[in-house]
Amino acid sequence: MKFSVLTLFPDFFSSPLSQSIIGRAIEKGLLEVSLHNIRDYAQDKHGTVDDTPYGGGAGMVLRVEPVVSCLDAVKKGCHAESTLTILTTPQGVRLDQRLVEELAGYQALIILCGRYEGIDERTRAFVDMEVSIGDYILTGGEIAALVLIDSVGRLVPGVVGQKDSLKTESFTTGLLEYPQYTRPPEFRGMRVPEVLLSGHHQEIRRWRRRESIKRTLERRPDLLDSAELTEEDIRFIKELTGKG
Ligand code: SAM
Repeated sequence: MKFSVLTLFPDFFSSPLSQSIIGRAIEKGLLEVSLHNIRDYAQDKHGTVDDTPYGGGAGMVLRVEPVVSCLDAVKKGCHAESTLTILTTPQGVRLDQRLVEELAGYQALIILCGRYEGIDERTRAFVDMEVSIGDYILTGGEIAALVLIDSVGRLVPGVVGQKDSLKTESFTTGLLEYPQYTRPPEFRGMRVPEVLLSGHHQEIRRWRRRESIKRTLERRPDLLDSAELTEEDIRFIKELTGKG
């Protein structure tokens, strides 16, 4: 899968994209990330990319011409069968695992990082989707672009070693994941639940399913409305809530 990132700060990406799972996936060629400096498309010799807002007000606005020239060049060089162009903005559709899965269906994502007070409104006409990574304000779109690359990239086949770990994760099943433990079996008086040491796979599966439901009910009951639940799950929820 190919990611093309348009940014004023290409160096921002060097460490996050060279580490761990994503770094190895790029090395293996499963993921490709190209970085494009918007400043290279400035219209003057000073490399100016921002200007004061019409109508006055605080801060600077990223100009439309360098951004759209950069977008044109990147789109022209992108020969993937399915490409989606994304603007990172706190005003976009909020990213969740469902959207991450949808984005993983594209062969290429072009991600535009804003800066300053934001981007000239007319830029919006040149993107397919606007994405927010949450209800807070970042200084720029680079962290949002990294969140997209990481969350979408890890769904590309071969990027995460054990496919099964993707299946049980929080949100993927519609529920939060069950608690995880590793050695030692006891730490400062806290013991790992006996069932996990029992080697009894069916019991372990049942325990995990129940813990997953319990945790979701405690922390994110809203998720239960759309989760796929068996009759046994529903009975267990009724037991926990004392309803029914
Ligand atoms: N003035 C803008 C507003 O109120 O909507 C915020 C601009 S923000 C300081 C600068 C850039 O950071 C944005 O253009 C966007 O690219 C990025 N950004 C900030 N918060 C974000 C979020 N929650 N999700 C995605 N991108 C964000």
